[in-house]
Amino acid sequence: MQTVTTIAEVRRLTDAARRDGGTVGLVPTMGYLHEGHVSLMEAARRECDLVVMTNFVNPLQFGVGEDFEAYPRDLERDAELSEAAGVDVAFVPAVEEMYPEPIATTVTVGGVTDRFEGASRPTHFAGVATVVAKLFAIAGPSRAYFGEKDWQQVCVVRRMARDLSLPVAVVACPTLREPDGLARSSRNVYLGPAERAAAPVLHRALLAGRDLIDDGERAPAAVEARMAAVVDAEPLADLDYAAAVRADDLTRPDVLAGEVRLLIAARVGPPRLLDNLGVTIATA
Ligand code: AMP
Repeated sequence: MQTVTTIAEVRRLTDAARRDGGTVGLVPTMGYLHEGHVSLMEAARRECDLVVMTNFVNPLQFGVGEDFEAYPRDLERDAELSEAAGVDVAFVPAVEEMYPEPIATTVTVGGVTDRFEGASRPTHFAGVATVVAKLFAIAGPSRAYFGEKDWQQVCVVRRMARDLSLPVAVVACPTLREPDGLARSSRNVYLGPAERAAAPVLHRALLAGRDLIDDGERAPAAVEARMAAVVDAEPLADLDYAAAVRADDLTRPDVLAGEVRLLIAARVGPPRLLDNLGVTIATA
């Protein structure tokens, strides 16, 4: 694995791969890698000739008062994990390399960003879309790998790629979980012992929502109420939202049908945790 810090070096390596007829796979991360990230890199390794992993804590997607400065970092361990996962190029730029001057151009995706994380974090998805657009322009991938863990992010990136005719397939990979169901996340390190024990309540709430749908419930409000009740029963968890929506554009139908996504966010102590689950309702 080669670790590079400049845009020019990434371009040199990806240009050479494409010149040789190879495909480039991109895995954008903010580092502090865990098994979830590794599964994305392994998927890219299986499907692409040159695998580029980017490790960049993107200041643009953090709001005022969020944890940009405190975001956990461990570049040495990240290098070991990404090398073991078969990454060819680790791009680890400084903020000055990505943003040498205050940025005047941002990518804003409407609609799908109106609710949920977009409502709680008003500048977040413009930061995500802008850095992902830059990374696409830098690496020129034909496939880019994202985790279902951040389902709304997948929807935002897919919509951006579609609207801007970007020649990239956006691949969504399943959420990796701890044995007790907690979705793996770099931010799980913020959980104290009691909070860690309480945190799987998000996954339990999603499963309860799915069970209700499996039992025939088709009203989003009823499914949402069931998920909320599970979270409300956990004293350490403070629910932000529990929603049952269409999987592709995150709008709320009158009657659940087809591809549905259950979304949940809650504070468990200081950390705000996210999770989601896909449910397919077969049409009769
Ligand atoms: P992050 O470093 O948190 O920005 O995440 C980088 C990528 O890894 C994003 O596409 C995330 O959705 C994905 N990811 C994070 N956690 C998981 C997980 N538990 N399972 C699968 N993918 C994940």
